[in-house]
This record gives sequence, structure tokens and C-alpha cells, in this order.
Amino acid sequence: MDPNLGDDSAPLNNGAGGRNPVGLPWQNVSREEWNDYRWQLSHRITSVASLAGLRYFSPEETAILERVNDLYHLGITPYYLSLIRLDDPADPIALQAIPGTGEYFGMDVGEDDPLDEEKDSPVPGLTHRYPDRCLMVVTNFCSMYCRHCTRKRIWALGEGAKTEFELGKMFSYIKRHEEIRDVIVSGGDPLTLPTARIEYILKGLRKIPHVEIIRIGTRVPVVLPMRIDDELCSLLSKYGPIWINTQFNHPREVTEEARQACDRLLRAGVPVNNQTVLLKGINDHPEIIRRLNTQLLKAKVRPYYLFQCDQVRGLEHFRTRLSKGIEIMEALRGHTSGLAIPTFVVDVPGGGGKIPLMPNYILSMGEQRTILRNYEGIIVSYEEPRADGRPSARPEAESLPSRADVYRLMTGEVKALIPAGNERMARRRRRCESASPTT
Ligand code: SF4
Repeated sequence: MDPNLGDDSAPLNNGAGGRNPVGLPWQNVSREEWNDYRWQLSHRITSVASLAGLRYFSPEETAILERVNDLYHLGITPYYLSLIRLDDPADPIALQAIPGTGEYFGMDVGEDDPLDEEKDSPVPGLTHRYPDRCLMVVTNFCSMYCRHCTRKRIWALGEGAKTEFELGKMFSYIKRHEEIRDVIVSGGDPLTLPTARIEYILKGLRKIPHVEIIRIGTRVPVVLPMRIDDELCSLLSKYGPIWINTQFNHPREVTEEARQACDRLLRAGVPVNNQTVLLKGINDHPEIIRRLNTQLLKAKVRPYYLFQCDQVRGLEHFRTRLSKGIEIMEALRGHTSGLAIPTFVVDVPGGGGKIPLMPNYILSMGEQRTILRNYEGIIVSYEEPRADGRPSARPEAESLPSRADVYRLMTGEVKALIPAGNERMARRRRRCESASPTT
């Protein structure tokens, strides 16, 4: 088994960090405290010094990590820390949470705002790029600061939330733009705000008649699932339709606590979509993504996007080649349920937006036929409809030159080319042979 895949049979959190073989500093915490998100927030790991007691760092590493921490926050909830195998330097959960030297050495590569969100921002905190949607950044605070975050640039602004005055400016802009029907409330992590402040935002948006749906971008189900409590769920249900977009990146994040949090959201009428970020050393393997997505489906969470990691300053060590994403999509299609297959997208630099990428399934196109290939490598001729409804014109068979190539599919001479050794065809043959009467 790939060591990064994790083990389905691993014991679940016992409420006080039971997954961690090394041991956490909160062994004596009560279950009640552990399950209280306020306790989790007030006991976050926020300094390299407090990490040093849990994991070995050489003096050189410590010095570099301190420098990274001067630039970018460090914040790990006890819950998320309990998912980390602290004795494994390549642990995929740790790589998302614990600062790495790559952040420091990669500082010259990438940009602070490669997606030009600020340039499409008519009002501070609001990005209006696509015609009928806009994005509101309502806080800079996150309970866990992901090392691969696209909006690391806002961390420098401190951990504050937008004031009512700032939110008011955003509401006024949305009010003036009747074409906006979908608002994405993001951050930072909006679900780390006090419940009353979340209500203030949702109420403000619901007063605008043309806002049809609200989406909330949050990693809380992954890093602080206890925040999804009854009070929050009834609030979200009151201001629906609300959709949650979250970010599970690895199957080991889909814990019982996370599943229950997603279930509470669903019961409150809030669908949960997942937007995985493709990250080198964390999930850049088809089997990790397949397993993550099938676990998400079991939790009734829809695998929505697989994002290419953005070209943000200091994230170069996380970036994969685009071909890695295509390879993963190739390995998923046909091999797992379509529901478990996200759309692989790259958000192109300069504000060009999301572009979906996928393996090429169209080999050729003609007036009468399109040549497609399936996941098994079978090449098929797909008959196109004719405007006049008559069958496709075809020269007499004997007048066709003899060929042994894909063009035979274009002329309709053959319907499919099947690679030798195709397992599905062999199965069919065996079934036919066993069904045919013996003589
Ligand atoms: S939760 Fe979202 S906004 Fe916060 S650090 Fe992670 S990716 Fe960035």
C-alpha cells in the first residue's frame, strides 16, 4: 500500500488525539472540551516553538521555519494535529499544516495574487469577475492555516474580520449589480466567525432580492468539524439556499468527525461540495484521489473540483505538472463511479478564470462520423445525424481502397478497433462460450 494512502482500519480519534502515535499535549482533556470548537480554537498551535516539542527539527530548519512564520501565520487545531503522524516527515496531513523550508526557498517563485483577484475588486474584499457571481472575503482568520493557501497574501493584513462598515460597502455593490445572483462568502474561513456575525452577513445578503444562492467556502468540516454544531446548522438552514464548498485533500481527513459534520450540514439542507487541491507529495497519485473521492461519496459529499495548485509565491514545491492532473483523470474515468470524478481545473494566471482540462477522448471528427476512444483504449466510430435524416453516404465497399488505419472508422468500414487482450471482451466471449449449447 502507498504509505500516503492511510489505513481505513486505523482507530478513530478517541476524543483526545488517539490517532497520534507520538502523543499530544492534551492527553487529559475531557471529551466535552475536545468537542467544543471554542476549546479547539483557544488551544491551537501557533508557533514553531510549540511544534518543536512534538516533532524533531534541526537547528537550521527551526531557524528557517521561524522566518517563514514571521511572514505567514501558523495555526493548527488540536483536532487536525491529531490526524498528523508526527514521526513521519513526509506525512501528507503534516505537509498541509506545518510550515516547510520549501515555503522559504521558493519565495522568489510565483506571485502574491496570481489570479488578479485584487484587480477585479471594485470594493475592498469583493471580487467581481464572472458576470453573475461575486466573491466576498469576510475575514482573514482561519482555524488552520493551510501551507498551500492561494490567499496567503491576506495573512499579512492580520487576523481580523471585515467590519460592518466594510461589509456594508460590499452589500451596496451587490445591491447595485442586479446581475449578481450567486455570492461566494469566503476568507480566510467564514465559519470561524462568531455565529452572530455569520448571521449578519447572511441576513444582509438575503435582503438583496436578486441574490439567489449563497456559497460558503470553508475548511471547517476538515480542520474543525465540531464547529458545525446545531446552532450553526439551524442558522444556515434559515438563510438557504446555501451551499458549502469545502476542501478535503486526503482520504485520512475523512474521519468519523468530519463525516458527522457533513451529515449535520446535509440534514440542515446544505449540500456539501469538495474542492481538492492537487498537491505534490500529498495527493498526487490516482489511487489517493480515487480513494478520497469514494470516501467522500460515502459521506454524501460531492467531489466537485480537482484544482491545479495556483502559482502563488512560496508554493512551488507543492505544484505538479498539468500532466499529473490529466493522468489522474485518465485513471479515474471508467475505473470508478462517475459521481466520484471531479472536474480538473486550472485557474489561469491574470484572472482568466477556471479552465477545465481532461484527457483527450476525441481522436478525430468528420462530417459523418466522430472517432472517440474510451477508457480501455477502444476506438469507436460514432455516427453523426444528417440534416436530411438520410443514412450517411458511403462509396461501394469494393471501390474503397484497402486500409488498416483509423480512417476506416471515418468511412464506416469498421465500427470499432479493440485492443488485443481487452479484458471486458474476453469476459463477454467466456460468457457466450459457457452459454452456447455443447454439441
Ligand atoms: S482554510 Fe482556506 S483560506 Fe484558510 S488557509 Fe486554508 S485554504 Fe487558505
